[in-house]
Amino acid sequence: MEKAGFEIIEAQDGRESLGVIRDRKPDLVLMDVEMPGMSGHDVCRIIKSNSGFGFIPVILMTARDDVETKVQGLEIGADDYLVKPINPMELNARVKSMLRLKELQDELVAINEKLKSMNDKFRELSTTDTLMGIGNRRSFDKRISYEFQRAQRYKKQLSLLMLDLDHFKRVNDKYGHPFGDKVLKTVARVINGCIRQVDIVARYGGEEIVIVLPETKIEEAKLVAERIRKAVAQTVISDGDDSVSITVSIGISNVPNESIDSSEKFISWADKALYLAKENGRNRVECLEEE
Ligand code: GH3
Ligand code: MG
Ligand code: MG
Repeated sequence: MEKAGFEIIEAQDGRESLGVIRDRKPDLVLMDVEMPGMSGHDVCRIIKSNSGFGFIPVILMTARDDVETKVQGLEIGADDYLVKPINPMELNARVKSMLRLKELQDELVAINEKLKSMNDKFRELSTTDTLMGIGNRRSFDKRISYEFQRAQRYKKQLSLLMLDLDHFKRVNDKYGHPFGDKVLKTVARVINGCIRQVDIVARYGGEEIVIVLPETKIEEAKLVAERIRKAVAQTVISDGDDSVSITVSIGISNVPNESIDSSEKFISWADKALYLAKENGRNRVECLEEE
């Protein structure tokens, strides 16, 4: 095989071969069935059942031309069989054919990995708002109905904050749209710093953001909302010579609530509370009394 240009690594028995295979990741294993200690079948079984090895073709060699040994080896996952005495030309041909298979298999694995990473990227893009770096409306719509049903079914507390930037149009008008975009990004980042990992933040509309708080009572939701309101108000956003501070108004809804029996009502309840916060002077948190 060396003469034919192959690089050969030898192992003296089954146990040693496993170490060599793990360390050197060969393109092919050519191995006797009968070996001291671990048999060729044992080694083959380990290589084929352990995905850490990747795909390595295994050709087993045996002195006995008995069908049973062959069938057993093939069932374990051996890719080919050679009967001793080995004919050099046949060996060469079988090895080449196995290496072609290995090459194809490796290509498939690479393509598969690429597809998977593209798929992950696509999934992320389809659920993320690229400007704010938080969930988009689509992801929110899906999550809110899931979380609402879950809360109803298991009688869990669930809160929703609906947030809107105050007088944001003025920022755009005075400093331009790109600066407005920067403000939106900054507000999203500040909000992310105020919530837990399990909370869900998404862009609901132009400059409206929703925050879903699972397992959260109204009192806790008020605290979170206040924390966000203060953190935003204390943030100065600069761009060149321009710098502004912005405030937000937040409306809260919470279940269980006698008047809320659908996720749509749950959202509109928070929206009404937000409207109240605006009416009452902005830079405020409001929630409605239960009817
Ligand atoms: P209020 O306190 O009542 O909410 O006043 P407001 O000016 O914030 O409210 P209004 O709804 O009149 O204005 C929202 C503004 O948000 C108008 C729109 O141009 C701006 N806006 C929406 N989406 C974006 C965006 O992606 N980037 C920027 N820069 N502005 C946006
Ligand atoms: Mg606004
Ligand atoms: Mg608005």
